[in-house]
Amino acid sequence: MPAPDALVLGRREEIVAALRAIVPGEGVIAQAAALRPYESDGLTAYRQPPMVVVLPETVAQVSAILSWCHAQGVKVVPRGAGTSLSGGALPLADAVLMGMGKFNRVVEVDYNNRLAIVQPGVTNLAITRAVEERGFYYAPDPSSQIACTIGGNVAENSGGVHCLKYGLTTNNVLGIEMVTMAGEVLRLGGRHLDPAGLDLLGVMVGSEGLLGIVTEVTVRILPRSETARAMLVGFPSVESAGQCVADIIAEGIIPAGMEMMDRPAIHAAEAFVKVGYPLDVEALLIVELDGPAAECDHLIEEIARISGLNGAMTSRISTSEEERAAFWAGRKAAFPAVGRLSPDYYCMDGTIPRRRLPEVLRRMAELSEQHGLGVANVFHAGDGNLHPLILYDANKPGELERAEEFGNDILRLCVEVGGVLTGEHGVGVEKRDLMPEMFSQTDLDHQQRIKCAFDPELLLNPGKVFPTLHRCAELGRMHVHRGEVPFPELPRF
Ligand SMILES: Cc1cc2nc3c(=O)[nH]c(=O)nc-3n(C[C@H](O)[C@H](O)[C@H](O)COP(=O)(O)OP(=O)(O)OC[C@H]3O[C@@H](n4cnc5c(N)ncnc54)[C@H](O)[C@@H]3O)c2cc1C
Repeated sequence: MPAPDALVLGRREEIVAALRAIVPGEGVIAQAAALRPYESDGLTAYRQPPMVVVLPETVAQVSAILSWCHAQGVKVVPRGAGTSLSGGALPLADAVLMGMGKFNRVVEVDYNNRLAIVQPGVTNLAITRAVEERGFYYAPDPSSQIACTIGGNVAENSGGVHCLKYGLTTNNVLGIEMVTMAGEVLRLGGRHLDPAGLDLLGVMVGSEGLLGIVTEVTVRILPRSETARAMLVGFPSVESAGQCVADIIAEGIIPAGMEMMDRPAIHAAEAFVKVGYPLDVEALLIVELDGPAAECDHLIEEIARISGLNGAMTSRISTSEEERAAFWAGRKAAFPAVGRLSPDYYCMDGTIPRRRLPEVLRRMAELSEQHGLGVANVFHAGDGNLHPLILYDANKPGELERAEEFGNDILRLCVEVGGVLTGEHGVGVEKRDLMPEMFSQTDLDHQQRIKCAFDPELLLNPGKVFPTLHRCAELGRMHVHRGEVPFPELPRF
């Protein structure tokens, strides 16, 4: 991470006082013990208490804080619920951590236009809760949906089980209001489809808190399907299950969700929630079909046929809502269940072309032997989005480092077979140094020029995503604020 700026640390009292002047009352947290809960996010291997936490309640406060920090050269790290698995919300010792938890209102639901306008601190699941009475829901459903916020979802372009059919966050966000590091408030997109001009909304979704603070989000809401049924299909090997996934998609069938669990994950989940998963199989697919009843029946027959061709050993089809929920209960509890297999696990996130699933799963098993660490697989198979859970014990010296190296090898494998470093968890600090495995220096320079266009002083969430933080001046762009040239030691051009 960037070395803390001693001058900024020396001005801590002044910075706290300035924040208190903008957000009175309990909105500024500066006491060491009270900063502890913010010292990490979902990537708990990394910890760093922030310099100070500020919890604004209004857009005017967000704008005033950012504009003050911008003028004073103070860094800011945005935070939603802190569930990021890539360290996106990891604090910096010399930065203000801006928690968006008080932006927790559903502002408006517009059923006629099938959209909801919400503040960024509203949890993902709360959007569905707000509209379900009228038969609607918000489709992207990260497993963390009970806790993670829509602001965090926008920043990470989060996905979930149902994104195979209904798209990721980026496909379900119509507009945002955001505040730039300089304190300017702007709107991108809105109630309408297809915003005019450059697709800056597309740039913002997935920008990992590097370009601006999101203060309002307009999302699509969808009517619930008439029918939803789930299938549990067991296979003799992960390769045959992987091949079945590739074949289903190749036949043109897009299930509402298609998830895969391997033997360690099946056994862990069954021991944890006891939903009747078959224990004599090496891999399990959970496939959900939704839509009109006749369509579901037809697709179930088709999937049963394709599964049979791939050597499926067992197959069950849900006959009630309770049974469908039970099929999913094991999958949803799989992460905590795997947590009972070893003291620690490290959740990776990479995406590959679906055709390569059998090969990648086989090579992952080889890597597991090579690194001497177990791995359990629970993942969004239909999207080719892998979530290997690497099992390790942080108390054993060197195991965390081995787990990280194993994880890096998995991500390199994803890139080698034509995939990407991340599916939905973002780059953050976790995959930052692997970016050159996937992007050339020219690619990275162009990406960073976008960062420079929004935040030329690199004050917003620095140290994340980019492996080397070039000063914007080095990329041929320099912002001069009130006549003070940043980085005066660099040559001008
Ligand atoms: C058990 C578990 C299961 C998970 N399952 C999934 C899953 O199925 N799919 C998935 O995609 N992810 C999953 N995640 C990861 C995580 O929940 C998501 O990345 C989520 O979107 C993060 O939301 P958050 O509110 O916790 O954001 P945070 O962790 O607080 O922040 C995440 C990033 O967003 C930025 N940010 C937050 N709020 C704002 C804002 N208002 N404006 C600008 N930037 C902001 C932060 O700076 C940071 O870079 C899981 C995490 C856990 C712990």
